[in-house]
Amino acid sequence: LPSKQGDIGLIGLAVMGQNLILNMADHGFTVVAFNRTVEKVHQFLANEAKGKSIIGALSIADLACKLKKPRRVVLLVKAGSAVDSFIDQLLPHLEKGDIIIDGGNSEYQDSERRCKALQEKGIRFVGSGVSGGEEGARYGPSLMPGGNKEAWPFIKDIFQGISAKADGQPCCEWVGSDGAGHFVKMVHNGIEYGDMQLIGEVYHLMLALGVSQDEMANTFEEWNKGELDSFLIEITKDILRYKDSDGQYLLPKIRDTAGQKGTGKWTAIAALNYGVPVTLIGEAVFSRCLSALKAERQKASSVLPGPNGKFSGDKRKFLQDLSQALYASKIVSYAQGFMLLREAAQVHNWDLDYGSIALMWRGGCIIRSVFLGQIKKAFDADKNLRSLLLAPFFIDAINKAQSGWRNVVSTAVTLGIPTPALSTALAFYDGYRSERLPANLLQAQRDYFGAHTYELLGQEGKFVHTNWTGHG
Ligand code: NAP
Repeated sequence: LPSKQGDIGLIGLAVMGQNLILNMADHGFTVVAFNRTVEKVHQFLANEAKGKSIIGALSIADLACKLKKPRRVVLLVKAGSAVDSFIDQLLPHLEKGDIIIDGGNSEYQDSERRCKALQEKGIRFVGSGVSGGEEGARYGPSLMPGGNKEAWPFIKDIFQGISAKADGQPCCEWVGSDGAGHFVKMVHNGIEYGDMQLIGEVYHLMLALGVSQDEMANTFEEWNKGELDSFLIEITKDILRYKDSDGQYLLPKIRDTAGQKGTGKWTAIAALNYGVPVTLIGEAVFSRCLSALKAERQKASSVLPGPNGKFSGDKRKFLQDLSQALYASKIVSYAQGFMLLREAAQVHNWDLDYGSIALMWRGGCIIRSVFLGQIKKAFDADKNLRSLLLAPFFIDAINKAQSGWRNVVSTAVTLGIPTPALSTALAFYDGYRSERLPANLLQAQRDYFGAHTYELLGQEGKFVHTNWTGHG
């Protein structure tokens, strides 16, 4: 037996795994480290892990026998088949009650499947969202664990110990059963797509204003002191200020096509599957797709007519309007994200605590912001809040922002500058506040061509059909 038993094991010594191990070691936990390519274990022990409470394992069997019971093993490997492969390899070396935690960006349906399959074998499975990238993993990530709740008392101290803290509280709480942790992480990533797209559109409009890049950076710096205070606004300011080795700004030299790994797309797909109008994240995903059509756009730019996109007006006032448009659209995006969580929770029987989710995102992760503190307050004040848009704080915030917001969207349309996220947010807001929408005409059309029947106002539940081409 080794002289010291590990508190927790971690498989996967890439960037996330190594940093999470160092974070756990800093918090007084002894970690047993393993990697498929075993050479990386030796390298890690000889370098970053040197002098820390980190033990190497040279095989899965070695890892299992170096751990205290119940064994706790974190997987931080490439999402997909690598996770299943390690679970299969671990099983012969585990006992009933042991815990496997998948901290990768797994699809929530996979976590649901793994949780159920492992429960039958007496193994407790946790699918945990981990956000904050390399820096977060090292110094305090946002952690969103879900799965078999029996595991929570055994991992709570470690997880809450190493997570980020916001307003003195850990950005980590038990989320819910099965795939709930990974679902919440997926929505987090979708919201991240939305926030990034909104900032991109604001940048596009700033270009049309003709303000210098330095002025843009100053504006973002100013915004970061108020209600928009957030990690993404802060890094945008840094990016805008960054100059290349030739003394020129780097940003304008970067190719305007954005890639994606899939979590934004998963959120949009989930929104369609659950029938929730998460329009802003959807537009953010499609905007990346449109950006990727660079060659087509280049051709079209010389053929398709439209306004020239040059602004002439009060720039200072418009910059203020932009901050209002960004803020109001952000409120809509988060309201939509929480609507999706609510619907999925109902379908899956997850007892989600929305205030607690806002706190988990408040620090440590990419969408961290002061704004999430307000969302937490709104859900704490009313646990049954139907929509963030109906919370008194946000009713007031949007009301103050809406004239600037409307001016930005209408100006963008007039100038021919695409603002899909800012515009869809406003369209959603106007749709949500409409007691009547034109869906009566849709009902009539469906009945006309397909005899799908329709309901009459005041007689809900009663379906009638009309012969639309007949008389009287
Ligand atoms: P990664 O590049 O996603 O994965 C590399 C790790 O996975 C290595 O340990 C590698 O082992 C192992 N691996 C890959 N394919 C394997 C296979 N078929 N069988 C067994 N092991 C395999 O690493 P990462 O960037 O550190 O991310 C780890 C997880 O965290 C991923 O799910 C990722 O999506 C998620 N995540 C990443 C970030 C981030 O900022 N990077 C943020 C949040 C979440 P070898 O060394 O042997 O190749």
